[in-house]
Amino acid sequence: MKHRFIIISLTSCSGCISSLISLDIFPQFLERTKIIYFPFISDTKNIEECDICLVEGCISEENQIPILRKIRKHAKKIYALGTCACFGGILSLSEVKLPKPISSYIEIDGIIPGCPPPTKLFGNCLIRLVENKEIELSKKNMCGGCPVRGNMKINSNIDIWKIAPNPEEIKIDEENSECFLENGVLCLGPITRDGCEHKCIKMGLPCEGCIGPVSKDFTSNIVNYLSLINLSQELKNYSGIFYRFSKPKL
Ligand code: SF4
Ligand code: SF4
Repeated sequence: MKHRFIIISLTSCSGCISSLISLDIFPQFLERTKIIYFPFISDTKNIEECDICLVEGCISEENQIPILRKIRKHAKKIYALGTCACFGGILSLSEVKLPKPISSYIEIDGIIPGCPPPTKLFGNCLIRLVENKEIELSKKNMCGGCPVRGNMKINSNIDIWKIAPNPEEIKIDEENSECFLENGVLCLGPITRDGCEHKCIKMGLPCEGCIGPVSKDFTSNIVNYLSLINLSQELKNYSGIFYRFSKPKL
């Protein structure tokens, strides 16, 4: 029997939904499921009982909470889709909005992280859901499989003074590139969940943590991580880099 799906957006840029409909397997996903509510592509008005609901976006307005609770009542399983829904996301940098992950208001059954979720991870998650299996995410951080890991040593005090390499320093030669940390560039790979296939790193840019933390205790992770490196004063003052996608619940 086909699973009945609801796919909704709260406060978001619609990037996760756009990625969903751009997936190679999206036509196959549509064939193997029954979509009962998906305002992005259909004009169905009613939220009905469903097997699985994917929620994109964070909660940033009071009036979104009853909608979310209504969906929780109607859905057997709910998954947070994208880093906004999972952790609050990029809107956390706003001084006006106070975005919350959906798990602050309802119980959820899992997450599909990323901003937006990386293609391969996203496709695998959807296939598992359609096949009635739980989503499996890596429990490792980004460094283990990093193509520029080299002889990275994170157990000594390294001096970090910038958040990105100078354009002329950007190398995309994996064989000869070095860990960003060894070159004084902040990389959040050590505290970020693996799963994006190191796309930014392969393009010569350090990890900014868009897929979210590898562990639930993000605050203590980041405190431990920062204690291992000597951050320049300028970077210490720029706290937004540490919770750009995953503001810790303080
Ligand atoms: S997680 Fe990223 S891509 Fe998805 S809605 Fe939020 S900002 Fe957009
Ligand atoms: S810190 Fe960044 S560049 Fe260095 S190994 Fe980890 S993910 Fe790769």
